[in-house]
Amino acid sequence: MVNWLFVFYRRQSYHFFRLCNAKPTATIILNVIMIIFKRIADIQKWLQIGKPGKATVGFVPTMGALHEGHLSLLQQSKKQADISIVSIFINPAQFDNKSDLEKYPSPVAKDIKLLEENGCDILFLPSENEIYPDEKSKQKHYELGNLEIVLEGKFRSGHFQGVCLVVERLLTIITPDFLFLGRKDFQQCLVIKRLISLIKFETDVVVCPIIREQSGLAMSSRNQRLNEEQREIAPELFRALKEIKENRDHNQFSILRKNAIKKLEHKGFKIDYLELAKEKDLQTVSEFIPGQKLVILIAAFLQNVRLIDNMILSEY
Ligand code: AMP
Repeated sequence: MVNWLFVFYRRQSYHFFRLCNAKPTATIILNVIMIIFKRIADIQKWLQIGKPGKATVGFVPTMGALHEGHLSLLQQSKKQADISIVSIFINPAQFDNKSDLEKYPSPVAKDIKLLEENGCDILFLPSENEIYPDEKSKQKHYELGNLEIVLEGKFRSGHFQGVCLVVERLLTIITPDFLFLGRKDFQQCLVIKRLISLIKFETDVVVCPIIREQSGLAMSSRNQRLNEEQREIAPELFRALKEIKENRDHNQFSILRKNAIKKLEHKGFKIDYLELAKEKDLQTVSEFIPGQKLVILIAAFLQNVRLIDNMILSEY
């Protein structure tokens, strides 16, 4: 049985075609509705026979609880690709902390509405069984080298293996021409680029800028778990990165780092890391190196909410 769920975005337009008894083409359908697929077989069938022949596909993988950051990736996809597909799947394989997984927000109805309003063509909303049908489907290892042992890799054991597992699965299902990722997850972008080269997959990776709240706080689904007081404090992470960047010409990184950590800890943060690293491979360095493309990266807890942010030194 076909398990397609149609969401009629501009219902009248759809009815118009039906009343005329004209068989609408997929392109016309895509302009008026968002299609939600829950099953791999169905989305693949649509990609094979429903998608207009030469239409390019842009793909935005997410874990839902959507915000402006996610939507900016969708907007970029709409600019570059003919059809934009967003997936929502909270991937258990990438959570090293069970309680973080349990507390991960999942406002699906709200997400669907946001995607409709923002012109998403297709939402892929698979169940865990669909992505990981058996234990074997979870047993794979990727050679990520240094990327797996520094920064996020060091503090979230197994996290990037889980990311690679789900991204390989999604890429194989959707076979997009373009893959849109946010620089908010700087290390993840490098990991996924490495995965793509490891599995020899052909897709253009487009890394999009970090979308921030007015306060400077990088938008994140986890921000929803911050209480009012924590929301006031959270933008300090951005301010710390900015301060280091602005003072880099006259100060050593080690001193700026020490001061920033002290200040943040005083505000109530528990710092996992605050590091300076080479943009290309995240090899950490102890000081600013003229002429090198460097990035400052931070991860810190505000009580039990873990936040990450980064700033490349050639921007802002
Ligand atoms: P997530 O749902 O957290 O797995 O994120 C899905 C995608 O959205 C990833 O490529 C993230 O890097 C990207 N993303 C999340 N937050 C932001 C943000 N504030 N600005 C830009 N991209 C973001």
